Amino acid sequence: FSLRGGRKPTEAQHCRMSREQKAVARARKAFETGRSKPLEHRIHQLKNLQRLLTERKKEIVDAIKKDLGKSEEGTQLYETLGLEGEINMAVKKLKEWAAPRPVEKNLMTLSDTVYIRPEPLGVVLIIGAWNYPWAITIQPLIGAIAAGNAAVIKPSEVCVHTAKVMEDLLPLYIDKELYPVVTGGVTETQELLRQRFDHIFYTGNGMVGKLIMEAAAKHLTPVTLELGGKSPCYIDKNCDLTIACRRIAWGKYTNCGQTCIAPDYILCEPSIQNQVIEEVQKAVKEFYTDDPKSCPDYCRIINQRHFKRIMAMLEDSTIAVGGDNDESDCYIAPTILKDVKPEAKVMQEEIFGPLLPILSVSGLDEAIKFINRGEKPLALYVFSHDSKVINRVRDETSSGGLLANDCLVHYSVSSLPFGGVGNSGMGCYHGKFSFDQLSHQRGCLIKQLKMEGMNSMRYPPHTAKKLGW
Ligand code: NAD
Repeated sequence: FSLRGGRKPTEAQHCRMSREQKAVARARKAFETGRSKPLEHRIHQLKNLQRLLTERKKEIVDAIKKDLGKSEEGTQLYETLGLEGEINMAVKKLKEWAAPRPVEKNLMTLSDTVYIRPEPLGVVLIIGAWNYPWAITIQPLIGAIAAGNAAVIKPSEVCVHTAKVMEDLLPLYIDKELYPVVTGGVTETQELLRQRFDHIFYTGNGMVGKLIMEAAAKHLTPVTLELGGKSPCYIDKNCDLTIACRRIAWGKYTNCGQTCIAPDYILCEPSIQNQVIEEVQKAVKEFYTDDPKSCPDYCRIINQRHFKRIMAMLEDSTIAVGGDNDESDCYIAPTILKDVKPEAKVMQEEIFGPLLPILSVSGLDEAIKFINRGEKPLALYVFSHDSKVINRVRDETSSGGLLANDCLVHYSVSSLPFGGVGNSGMGCYHGKFSFDQLSHQRGCLIKQLKMEGMNSMRYPPHTAKKLGW
């Protein structure tokens, strides 16, 4: 029943359809009514989404607190504030984004109208991840609505409370046929993936990313993959280490290290390693006190499976600071690892937890070589007073995004594309990039049925005389 347009399921077929099939069929049917397209509808839906964020703040905060132990302020800062900014921007700019863009003409089309008109793709599947369960799932939805699409929303099952709140609240505020929420885990997601979509927007790990692409290929559906990986952080000797380490500690330990663009590991010269440890430790104390476990701003690991995964990474490395943990509470203290070898367990996969390994390099050349030996990361951080160092890192490596002398904040700049490259993902979003990503850029050439004489050259017979050769 997943054909685009055309064949509608009979009543008997409809009864046999799974919950996922029904949601997709309903979204398709609603899209085909054309009601998602007028700009007024899109703006109205976006404003309703904004209203949901304001009116239902408490439910969202409580759910995320239960799932991730995030404080109310943490949820506002990292989950909802950015969404409000994105909605405001889309509402303000939508007319401009959606307007046809006239383009340059050639000799043959001088008297015609030639333009690019962004138009909706159709029904988009949004699959969210658990680490920022609200922001990561709703942010692509803003783009989908703004671009005039229908969207089936599949929040991560790992954050059960947030998924439930999303399932309960979204239909109360936005068109529930056009934007249905389908909850569930792997089985339900796989059932969704068997359906035909016009775009799939997936956030999560690369292994599942490959499965998404495989499923999408069956219907030739384009995908956006927002993945992760090991984001390196190079600290140059010529650097204010107090400020650098404070910013790195914030980037690393926010959300207990469970951030796709968290600095994964530090590369620096051995001569500054001890000072880096000292400064990161100082910042941790300033942010989370001497007892992070009882600090409301320090989160927990999402579940025991991830707790065990992260703890296993500690086996062959030397702990310089931290290491305390409590499995029953999914607590792992902010931890720094020193003299880490590239072969260490902690360096074999994305950490996605509060461990900060420091690896020694002889200088910038070796750091660049090291970074280039790995997969292209989602983010790349460099700390230095010297713009030559920053420029060399920029010019001699590749990554989804580059940030000098800070961590994470490039995510919040809606005028920058956010997304990976190579193994860290494909496609990008935020601000207008979300709108473009989920639109088809339709090339339009509008001629008049006049001035037929101008076309005589192109019609056979192609005689040399007619062509003037
Ligand atoms: P997750 O476990 O929540 O999985 C993500 C989604 O994939 C879920 O909705 C889940 O239902 C679905 N899924 C899981 N297994 C599946 C399967 N076999 N078939 C079909 N669907 C399946 O999240 P995760 O993958 O643990 O998320 C963490 C990863 O996501 C990290 O690598 C992180 O870096 C990355 N991430 C990237 C971004 C970004 O914007 N680039 C943002 C957040 C997280």
